[in-house]
Amino acid sequence: MQKLLFRSIREHAAAFSGGEYTSEELTRAFLRQIETVDGRVGAYLTVDAEGALLAAREADERRRRGESLGPLDGIPYAVKDNFCTKDLRTTCASRMLESYCPPYDAEAVCRLRRAGAVLLGKVNLDEFAMGSSTEHSALGRTRNPYGEDRVAGGSSGGSAAAVAAGECVFSLGTDTGGSIRQPAAFCGVMGLKPTYGAISRYGVIALASSLDCVGVFSRLAEDGETVLSALVGRDEKDMTTLDVPPSPIPDRPLRVAVVTDFLQEGMVSDDVRACLLAAVSLLRESGLAIGEVTLPEPSMALAAYSVLTSAEAASELGRYDGVRYGLSRAADTLERLYAESRGEGFGREVKRRLLFGTYALTGENRETLYDRARRVRLAVKRAMEEILSSYDLILSPATPTSAFLANARRTPAEMYRSDLCTVYANLAGLPSLAIPVGVDREGLPLALQLTGAAFSEPLLYRASALLEGKHHGRDEI
Ligand code: GLN
Repeated sequence: MQKLLFRSIREHAAAFSGGEYTSEELTRAFLRQIETVDGRVGAYLTVDAEGALLAAREADERRRRGESLGPLDGIPYAVKDNFCTKDLRTTCASRMLESYCPPYDAEAVCRLRRAGAVLLGKVNLDEFAMGSSTEHSALGRTRNPYGEDRVAGGSSGGSAAAVAAGECVFSLGTDTGGSIRQPAAFCGVMGLKPTYGAISRYGVIALASSLDCVGVFSRLAEDGETVLSALVGRDEKDMTTLDVPPSPIPDRPLRVAVVTDFLQEGMVSDDVRACLLAAVSLLRESGLAIGEVTLPEPSMALAAYSVLTSAEAASELGRYDGVRYGLSRAADTLERLYAESRGEGFGREVKRRLLFGTYALTGENRETLYDRARRVRLAVKRAMEEILSSYDLILSPATPTSAFLANARRTPAEMYRSDLCTVYANLAGLPSLAIPVGVDREGLPLALQLTGAAFSEPLLYRASALLEGKHHGRDEI
């Protein structure tokens, strides 16, 4: 049974065609797994058993009629709870939207529905995707399948944990500063943040629109590629989307740039550094050309990311005013209604960022904080593009440490440091893949990250085979 839950998309599709099992049987197996393990993992906020079984039966029916929709037809998956799903509660893990049922599906969910994929339910996140541990969810904790005392990472902690614990074949998440790659790294699965504009964000509740990306969690590269190809492409409803064919994979030995900033003393844990160095030797042995590069100062990139996301979030989240939708508290003046609804609806981390974001846009701060952050962003983008004009891939750690302890009482600044290695790709709008490569001394997953030129996702997935370890989710949870 466990083995069944950890099969690849291709294996499931072959089993459907060969009559070994149906999508309905597979869906029931995942629903049972959710029932058995999710009390411990806490990945799901909402399970839609009825909707999933209905979709699975439709997939089986199509197959019987010889009208299968392709590789994803009948494949069960989960989606982060900041994607709108028609008539299915979409909370953003916030009191603000606790009972919100959207009247429409996010474009990514529509595309998967059109490909026949079976939506099992909605998974946990840090409130409004702000965080690195899923501890800022107002609706419950997600634990790391590799250690219940560890966080699953964040903000897409539920998406990562669900794939790792065999509670779905793949999942969707969002990545604004690392929210797919960091939890993927902590849970030992693959996490892809695609090129900015590759996948529609229509119906995805925004954190910071100039950085937000929809992406994929999978156990295997081939699964990630299959899901990605169902999602990419122009959508009239999101003007940032583009129809760009993926760049061809170079027909020569790859040139890989290793980011040496992260090898400096104190930047990342000893285990992470050892893992990066081991990967470099491995790549050298396989005949790849390896060069060393540095990136613009990590603390500057982190600060710029923090200013930009907070400023954008302050305006994006202005819509939760207690009037139109979301939590609403009656009061005698409009000001009080705003204050009470927002005061009660938002958690501490969200409030901290909204206050900071508003501050960064107020008066002279706009010049000293926001405009400066935009200049840093441009410098990061230029530096990365410069590196990628002579290299195919940029190799770095995905995270500074493996999964940290839950309830560790980290300060906000310590927490923000989790994004040290990931924010660059967001600032530059480039695709980046977290790849599980092994475990540390405590048996916790370690991951490396490959970043490439715009629309080089197939190369990232292909190249992951050069680094990949044997850890694709925990099969004996
Ligand atoms: N950890 C980052 C943050 O808290 C990432 C958020 C994200 O990518 N959604 O801002």
